[in-house]
Amino acid sequence: MLFHFIILPFSHLIISSPNPLNPANMRFPLFFSLILVFFACQTPQSPETKSEPNPEDVRMIRSLFEDCLESGDTYALLEHLCLQIGPRLSGSENAAKAIDWTHNIMEKELGFDRVFRQDVMVPNWKRGEAEFCQIVGDPKPLSVLAIGGSVATPADGITAEVVEVQSLDEVDELGEAVRGKIVFYNRPFNQKSLSSGGGYGGAVDQRSQGAIRAAKNGAIASIIRSAGSGFDDVPHTGTHNYEDGVPRIPAAALGIISADRLTAALAQNPQTKVHLKMSCEWQDDAPSHNVIGEIKGSEHPDKIILVGGHIDSWDVGHGAHDDGAGCMHSIMALQTLRKLGYQPRHTLRAVMFINEENGSRGGKKYAELAKANNEQHIVAIESDGGGFTPRGFGLKGTPESLAKWRSWLPLFNPITISYINDGGGGVDIRPLHNETGTPMANLSVDGQRMFDLHHSPNDVFESVSRRELEMGTASLAALIYLVDKYGM
Ligand SMILES: [Zn+2]
Repeated sequence: MLFHFIILPFSHLIISSPNPLNPANMRFPLFFSLILVFFACQTPQSPETKSEPNPEDVRMIRSLFEDCLESGDTYALLEHLCLQIGPRLSGSENAAKAIDWTHNIMEKELGFDRVFRQDVMVPNWKRGEAEFCQIVGDPKPLSVLAIGGSVATPADGITAEVVEVQSLDEVDELGEAVRGKIVFYNRPFNQKSLSSGGGYGGAVDQRSQGAIRAAKNGAIASIIRSAGSGFDDVPHTGTHNYEDGVPRIPAAALGIISADRLTAALAQNPQTKVHLKMSCEWQDDAPSHNVIGEIKGSEHPDKIILVGGHIDSWDVGHGAHDDGAGCMHSIMALQTLRKLGYQPRHTLRAVMFINEENGSRGGKKYAELAKANNEQHIVAIESDGGGFTPRGFGLKGTPESLAKWRSWLPLFNPITISYINDGGGGVDIRPLHNETGTPMANLSVDGQRMFDLHHSPNDVFESVSRRELEMGTASLAALIYLVDKYGM
């Protein structure tokens, strides 16, 4: 039954006849095709100069949303990525499988004009055996994950007293008092923040810098309260830093309930000890790739509109929202435009970046090659906020571009896209922006649930709503259509 459930929704992509992803087999009304061809031949006129939105744009954008909601395949593709391949840490076998699979989808199933790869060496960290953490004297283990990039503990683990702190600075103030001990960073996610990203930002320094600060003061391990917004006991991993010249100590994250248990134990007995065992290891860098699918532009094939996500994920959960959703959004935004018969003027690229989570090597390689090859990008757009309901876009570009994008807002139903933020982008496209000055943008989604599951075993396919995900694809397709037609 489970097998049936998993396979069926995707199988129609590859075995049904006619294949709905093959543009040759599209059931698309002829008269509508002719309307699109007619309008595609008109000289584009920016809606800025009009008081009323261009009816053709209204029709096109409505069609993009309706098509995605009624018969979009973003959800089926994400299901395959999550359930048939799974989590995709850089350097892993699964990451390689996901690269092959997305390459194949864009080249063979969808027939994009050109699909190619960029070679990139990626960091190769392995979690090893399941981590173990326990309050000495308490038989029930704490729920724990190694923070990505951590060194292992000795084979039989470490056992030491714990010092609880609320900040990096508090560790410096304690100084010698943490020597030989485990530092436990317990500052919670900032629940007062209206944006979940703000709440995360208020806690995540403990993960990224905690081990360095603890080690500088002689501590032998760093444990954090997970940087997550939920109240469950599922720990959240993520990346962290070491510093040259500072001892590399093990770094781990506890589930929220486990963090509260440890606090309670310390309140009862300040000499409470914790036992921690982790067997993670660093291996040699591994060969990997960015994967790029292109639809050639009819008028300006040398000018590129990029939309992308990152194909790697953490090694727990499925990497469904982070960032399977953004990768599938990108592929299907291009495909939906093709399906509706839209012939782009500029070249459209869907980019699956590798290694966003722990090194950004894919984004850096893309920028390096774009500069070396003198490629011209009109804009780079990233979807890395999860497969939640789209709300707006962010744009880091000129004031003129920002004004132009804002003039497009009346084309969207406000229950989908209702704002354009001044500022935006993504980790994978920032190097391109920095190297070449390409404007960068992002799909902005309703992120209130993102940090309940971000980087945790809860980031699974089942946490994604089909309608919300497909709306993201439609929003990106609509934005690409507008940029292609009216420029930046
Ligand atoms: Zn991400």
